[in-house]
Amino acid sequence: MMTAYMDHKNLANEVIDEVRTKEITDGVHRVLDDIAQAEAAAGRESGSVKLLAATKTRDVGEIMAAIDAGVRMIGENRPQEISAKAEGLIRQCAQRDFSLGASADADSQAAANGHIPFHLIGQLQSNKIGKVLPYVDTIESVGSLEEAQKIARRAVTRNITVGVLMEVNESGEVSKSGCEPDQAVDLAYQIGAIDGLQLQGLMTIGAHVDDEKTIRNGFAHLRDTRDTILNSGEPGTSECRELSMGMTHDMDYAVAEGSTIVRVGTAIFGERAFI
Ligand SMILES: *Cc1c(COP(=O)(O)O)cnc(C)c1O
Repeated sequence: MMTAYMDHKNLANEVIDEVRTKEITDGVHRVLDDIAQAEAAAGRESGSVKLLAATKTRDVGEIMAAIDAGVRMIGENRPQEISAKAEGLIRQCAQRDFSLGASADADSQAAANGHIPFHLIGQLQSNKIGKVLPYVDTIESVGSLEEAQKIARRAVTRNITVGVLMEVNESGEVSKSGCEPDQAVDLAYQIGAIDGLQLQGLMTIGAHVDDEKTIRNGFAHLRDTRDTILNSGEPGTSECRELSMGMTHDMDYAVAEGSTIVRVGTAIFGERAFI
């Protein structure tokens, strides 16, 4: 039962206690410090790596505590969770003068405190595309031409452009989605050329192994692939800059290999009780 936790946690809850608020605040500050250190250790410019809070299983109150502590980008895995939380998040963000995700186009374009990008970082079934497009700016998990075309058709109908990161299965693990590494460049050229989409970069999930070299090789290959695409001059590739790679346990390796977005859940919010 993939979504059993949704039955016993109210994801729309907006009020959390002081102890939980402090845990999350400390978590965000710790992760931001870790990112700054990893940037410095890698000789990278301060601020070149963005923190995306991976918010699956967390409720609106927990997510707002992370935003209050300095998170400026969020990512959800499941359309059902987006449906449960989006209205509460948009309202809470508006109260703080932030705009959130794709909803900003409608009514809060120029929020005083800025825009918080809202990404989908999990798999998207075709019948859920219409559910997420009103809320997310960017879909990080596009691994095939068919998927990209389906999203694009819905985007064109809505008269919007959707950001896309192409997911690449660098580790080759069968449990992971994404295209094959040796097909990534050609697929990026095809996706870049589709109306209704903006190819913004590449995404991968690090190898599930205990070996630094193996994990880093995958990240380094994603960076090389991004460089090839970005330098190609092919139509629709000039914004393909982002490298979304690195999670709680491999964030430092990812920053060392050029990550521009790290997706962090556990190190901010603690262990997940479900899934
Ligand atoms: C859950 C998740 C993350 C964050 O994982 P943590 O190990 O909790 O930091 C990042 N990316 C994706 C795609 C996820 O599903």
